[in-house]
Amino acid sequence: MINKHPYCRLIPLVFCGLGLLVDAVAADKALDASQIGSDAVPLTEYFAVLEDPEHKLTLAEVQTPAIAAQFVAEHGSDQPLAYGTTTTPHWFRFRLQNPTPQPLQRIIEIDFPRISDIQLHQPLPDGSYQSLQTGAAYPFTTRPYANRNFVFPVSLPPLSEQTYYFRLQSNTDLLVPAQVWSPEAFQAHERKDYIIQAWYYGIATAMGLFNLLLFIALREKIYLLYVIFVATTVAAFASFFGLAPEFLWPAAGIWAEKAMSITAVFQATIFALFTRHMLNTPAIVPTLDRVLLLVVGTMLLLLLGDLASIPGAFILGQLFVLAVYVYIFAVAFHCVLHHERRAYFFVIAFTFYLLGVITYTLTSMGVLPHTQLTANAGQIGSGLEMLLLAFALADRFNMIRREKYQAQEEALQTKQTLLDSVRASERQLEARVAQRTEELNEAMRKLQDLSLTDGLTGIANRRQFDSVLSAEWKRAERAGAPLALAMLDVDHFKKFNDLYGHPQGDECLKQVARLLANNVSRPAELIARYGGEEFAVIVPGANNHEALQLALKICAALRACRIPHAGSEVGYITASIGVAVSTPQPGESPDTLIQAADTALYGAKAGGRNRVVVADPIPHGHFSLHKHL
Ligand code: GH3
Ligand code: MG
Ligand code: MG
Repeated sequence: MINKHPYCRLIPLVFCGLGLLVDAVAADKALDASQIGSDAVPLTEYFAVLEDPEHKLTLAEVQTPAIAAQFVAEHGSDQPLAYGTTTTPHWFRFRLQNPTPQPLQRIIEIDFPRISDIQLHQPLPDGSYQSLQTGAAYPFTTRPYANRNFVFPVSLPPLSEQTYYFRLQSNTDLLVPAQVWSPEAFQAHERKDYIIQAWYYGIATAMGLFNLLLFIALREKIYLLYVIFVATTVAAFASFFGLAPEFLWPAAGIWAEKAMSITAVFQATIFALFTRHMLNTPAIVPTLDRVLLLVVGTMLLLLLGDLASIPGAFILGQLFVLAVYVYIFAVAFHCVLHHERRAYFFVIAFTFYLLGVITYTLTSMGVLPHTQLTANAGQIGSGLEMLLLAFALADRFNMIRREKYQAQEEALQTKQTLLDSVRASERQLEARVAQRTEELNEAMRKLQDLSLTDGLTGIANRRQFDSVLSAEWKRAERAGAPLALAMLDVDHFKKFNDLYGHPQGDECLKQVARLLANNVSRPAELIARYGGEEFAVIVPGANNHEALQLALKICAALRACRIPHAGSEVGYITASIGVAVSTPQPGESPDTLIQAADTALYGAKAGGRNRVVVADPIPHGHFSLHKHL
């Protein structure tokens, strides 16, 4: 009976005497607090709302019938009430009833830790109100219940129906996800919530410390940037989700609220620096990089403006924080489209973060269902981002190592190619030098031949004759063997020239040379043109007799040629030969042999030409002449 028709009995009890107010308030739907089980019950559909644009209404004023009637009931919506970025205070009136005969303890939770100023006016049994004031802009110690969200335990007397008032005002945006819990259900929920938070901060701390160690070990700036990025993200999250006021700065008032924008701006700044380093944007996309610096710079200036309480700086600053993230994502995506490998993991990591933040935002606004997963999507996204970014760092490390290895390989290859080409040109040079040397030797041989042979007849010249005679002289001296020399002079050759001409004379000389060559067969023997129409034959080892025979043979052969010579007594070309043979003695010179042969030749001429005269050696290098026809 009581549960079915609680209004009939309670309204007269509690609100009698309040006149019009009773009517206005009575129109509000009341929440039966006894029906709350293990789940939270949304309070918003029981709210009647009144805006206070002039920031002037007091509890007493909103209770006056005229103003009370201006409250608008939000009946029907169990979703969080979202008012966007407004600083206007909003009054929320709601009624809780306890139709049971026992007192009821209930917990009211506003799951949005960024409301700056919260007043809760709770009715007392005597009809008066107890007011308490807390909020993000107040020290944590003002809260009636220690929790990262705003939590208010209320006590409902037996068989009661009471009207409560919230006055909520935010310096940022106003979102009111209000719900009512039974104390047991709330404590279970609270435990789970804090475990999830602990997981997130635990992962972040581990990642931060691990990368700090990596930085100490590797001395790579990017690891330090990562550590600072983790630290600023943790600070921003702790501030944003109400844990920093509880654990880090419980005594801070307005600065606890300012810390939200400060940490958010620092987080975005460090993330931008980390991105620049990670994606190497100054080198890869210099223009986009400069714009990024500009956006970050503007955001920092707006933060200063916000801290100096310049109107509008806060909202604009928050928009720029958003702009920094959107811009970084665009730049990273641009890098992915240009196949920059280092951007792949980065974009995946960042996408997780963005998805987390978007899911959380949509959940807060009641667009997505409120579950542990969606309500903590921000932390989940951020945790995944940290993990994947650490992976991206490892991949970057690998990539740099590969690039270094490749560069080393290339340098080695270049060195090898260089060495090969040096070796090849060395070989070429060697071959060319060898070829030139060969050519030079050939030229020298030719030159030597030229210097040793007679140009006209092709037989040895005077120079070669001299050196061979000297060598044979020494050899004969060593061997104690005889050495023969025959000197041949063409008879009446001047006349021949005169009669037949000089060219014909040359032909004749050539013929004589050929004839000599034909008659001298031993390799040790040498025929030479001694000068003009005089020839010489060196015959090593020949005695007088042998030398004479050779000379006679030559004379006869020339005669047999019958080269016509009208100026000669016999009518053809003849020659006179002087022969000398000597066994060289120490101290003697080959000149004596030449002189002897010459004298013999002179004797042959004097004796009538066309004959051989042998100079017999007599002691002390002298010869006596023997004429032979
Ligand atoms: P003799 O019987 O006394 O030896 O008389 P000859 O005329 O042969 O002797 P002479 O020494 O008076 O003359 C030698 C000549 O040989 C003089 C020169 O014109 C000629 N003669 C020397 N060398 C060459 C040569 O290379 N070619 C030609 N065609 N004539 C030469
Ligand atoms: Mg002569
Ligand atoms: Mg002559």
